[in-house]
Amino acid sequence: MDWALIGASTIASQYMVNAFRSQPGGNVSWIVSGSAARAVDYADRHRIPKSSGEMSDALSDPDVDAVYISSTNEKHFAHATAAIAAGKHVFCEKPLAMTLGEAREMVQAAETAGVVFATNHHLRCAGSHLAVRDLIAAGRIGDVLSCRVFHAVHLPENLRGWRINSKDAGGGVVPDITVHDADVIRFLLNEDPQSVVAEVTSSGMGQGVEDSAMSVWTMPSGAMAMSHESFTHPFAGSGFEVHGTKGSVFARGVMTQQPVGEIELVTASGREVIPFEIYDLYTFGVARFCEAVAGTGRPAADGWDGVMSLAVAHAVREAAATGTRVVVNYGGPR
Ligand code: NDP
Repeated sequence: MDWALIGASTIASQYMVNAFRSQPGGNVSWIVSGSAARAVDYADRHRIPKSSGEMSDALSDPDVDAVYISSTNEKHFAHATAAIAAGKHVFCEKPLAMTLGEAREMVQAAETAGVVFATNHHLRCAGSHLAVRDLIAAGRIGDVLSCRVFHAVHLPENLRGWRINSKDAGGGVVPDITVHDADVIRFLLNEDPQSVVAEVTSSGMGQGVEDSAMSVWTMPSGAMAMSHESFTHPFAGSGFEVHGTKGSVFARGVMTQQPVGEIELVTASGREVIPFEIYDLYTFGVARFCEAVAGTGRPAADGWDGVMSLAVAHAVREAAATGTRVVVNYGGPR
């Protein structure tokens, strides 16, 4: 599969170029940036043969099968709709768009055009998350009563920029991390949050955007979910817990880009370490995408998963802004 990268980004550099090249026949043929000079520099650094400051150059290349969009968040909609119109498959970064309406429009456009559209929610690709999902689905913890995701990190210096100072570019911890946590909870519990209450704050890093958020969600089953995201916590660690009528599962150190962490199941029989498979999360996600393009599978997280996680994130921001309980608005049926 021939890929065009839209966005000379850190995530493409650190993880995605390798994930695309790791696939059988995987090839990165274009880098497109808003700056032609930055595109040339990025192409040189990553051995990408073609570069441009114009997306149309890559989209008009008939050899390009798919585009990976990792521009800043406010550009995802324009980039995705152009790629879909050119008949390319789309692997898009989260959050899919600035508004729910745009996100839905992108996903619907891909369906109409008959191209594959996926969201890069990498955490559901982790062996740890898949193991816990299987354990819950197998009834090992009984009926789920509650879960807690703790995902308060210390944002590295090189990732600060627009994330901490530009609401217009889609900055803030809610579009950045709460969307991931929404996807994880949806994935683990196999249901969509119904309503949320929330508080957000800027506790030293965010300039005009929140850098910390805490929220409580009610699930259709009656289970409660609690999530905590931050850019400002150097030592908090990450993970999640899911508590049920027959057991509790504790997954520590697993809300990361690396295949790391540990899982423990506690039941009336005692404590049990749960093993899980170790592999690169992003390579796994790209492999699922390639299977979907080949017609032999489906994306790990499809476009609708990106729409749903965005809807939850918007509800969290609205609940915090209004001080009220907000019913999550998914914008209608799929
Ligand atoms: P970066 O800040 O590294 O890149 C985003 C854009 O900023 C680039 O497309 C580029 O624009 C511009 N840019 C980068 N470096 C410079 C520079 N030196 N000078 C001027 N402009 C520059 O973003 P991230 O890689 O952190 O995030 C990109 C997207 O990926 C976001 O949507 C984010 O939410 C998502 N993401 C997802 C992750 C996941 O695990 N799924 C993890 C991290 C990010 P241009 O293309 O025009 O050159």
